[in-house]
Amino acid sequence: MEIRVEKTKTPREKPDFKNLGFGKYFTDHMFLMDYVEGEGWKDARIVPYGPLELDPSCMVLHYGQEIFEGMKAYPCDGKILLFRPEMNARRMNSSAERLCMAQIPEELFIEGISELVKLDRDWIPTEEGTSLYIRPFMISTQNGLGVHASKSYKFIVILSPVGAYYPEGLNPVKIYVEDEYVRAVKGGTGFTKCGGNYAASIIAQSKAADKGYTQVLWLDGVERKYIEEVGTMNVMFKIDGEVVTPKLEGSVLPGVTRDSCLKLLGEMGIPASERKLSIDELIEAYRAGKLEEAFGTGTAAVISPIGELYYEGEKMTIGGGKIGPVSQKLYDTLTGIQWGKLPDTLGWVREVK
Ligand SMILES: *Cc1c(COP(=O)(O)O)cnc(C)c1O
Repeated sequence: MEIRVEKTKTPREKPDFKNLGFGKYFTDHMFLMDYVEGEGWKDARIVPYGPLELDPSCMVLHYGQEIFEGMKAYPCDGKILLFRPEMNARRMNSSAERLCMAQIPEELFIEGISELVKLDRDWIPTEEGTSLYIRPFMISTQNGLGVHASKSYKFIVILSPVGAYYPEGLNPVKIYVEDEYVRAVKGGTGFTKCGGNYAASIIAQSKAADKGYTQVLWLDGVERKYIEEVGTMNVMFKIDGEVVTPKLEGSVLPGVTRDSCLKLLGEMGIPASERKLSIDELIEAYRAGKLEEAFGTGTAAVISPIGELYYEGEKMTIGGGKIGPVSQKLYDTLTGIQWGKLPDTLGWVREVK
C-alpha cells in the first residue's frame, strides 16, 4: 500500500535521553490508516503527531472496542532492528478476532511501523537499556450508540523513546498476590491486549501500590488458586532446578518475551515447563527452600526479577534481593539478540530497511 507522508513543520524538542522514564515522550510523527467495512484498509499515512478528532458518539468511547500492541525498535551500529514483529502482528489479529474488529495484513502492520520508525529514527535513544517503544493500536470509529461491532476502524502507531521500565532497573521488584479482584477468565479476553483488561486491573494495581508493591500477581478467575501472570508481564519461577510458567489456556496473555524465554531455556538446556502452578505449590516450594528464582517477562521490562511476593499476610523473599543466575542469563541473551550484539541463530531479528 502507498503510504502518504506529511512531515512536521515544527519538530519537537528531544527529551534528555538519559532520563526518559517510560511512555512520557512521543516522536514527531504517527502512522494512521482507516478501515471501512466492504472497502478494507485505506489512506495509509504518516502525519505530524497530534490529537485525534472523534465524534462524542464514537463507539470506542462507549463500548471500548480497542486493542493494542507493545514492541520495540533497537539501534545497532546505525541499523534499526525489530524483534519478532510478526508475533505482534499475529497477536494483534488474534485480539481483533476476539473483539470483532478488522484484521490487518501482517506485512502492512510491519510496513506501517517500519516506515514510521525510519522517519523518526533520530528519536531512537542509544544509551544502555533504552529503546524506542512502539505502540500500535486500533479503535472502533463508527458513530452512534448501541452495542454491536463497528463498521469502521482506525489503526494508529505512535512511538516513544523509553528508558528502563521500572525505576528499580534490574533490581528485584515487590509483587502483591491479588486474592480479591481477578483479571480474566477462560472464555473472556485475557489472551488479548484489549484496553478493557487494563481498565479493570487498575483497582488492584493501586491497592498494591498503596501497600508498597510495584505490581500485582493475578490468580485464576475461578478458583483464585492458580498463578496466571503479572500486570503487564508473564511470570516464571525456578523451582528445584526447573523453570515453570503457567500454561496458556485463554486467560493469560501469550507474551512474545515468554515464548522467547522458553525457546532460549530449551537452547540452554535448562529444564522448563508450561503447566498449572498453584499458589499453594509455590508457597510449599518456598518453605522447602526450593523456590530459587522468580521473574516477570515482557517487552517493556524484558526480564524483571521478583524479590518479594506478598500473599495473604505472608511475605516470601526470593533471591536475597539480587537477580538470579537464570534470570540474568535470559536477560543478557535476549537483550544481546535484540541489540544485535549476539548472533541471531533463531532468526528473530528483522532489520528495518
Ligand atoms: C503485554 C503483556 C505481556 C507481555 O507480552 P510481551 O509480548 O512479552 O511484551 C504479558 N502480560 C500482559 C497482561 C501484557 O499486557
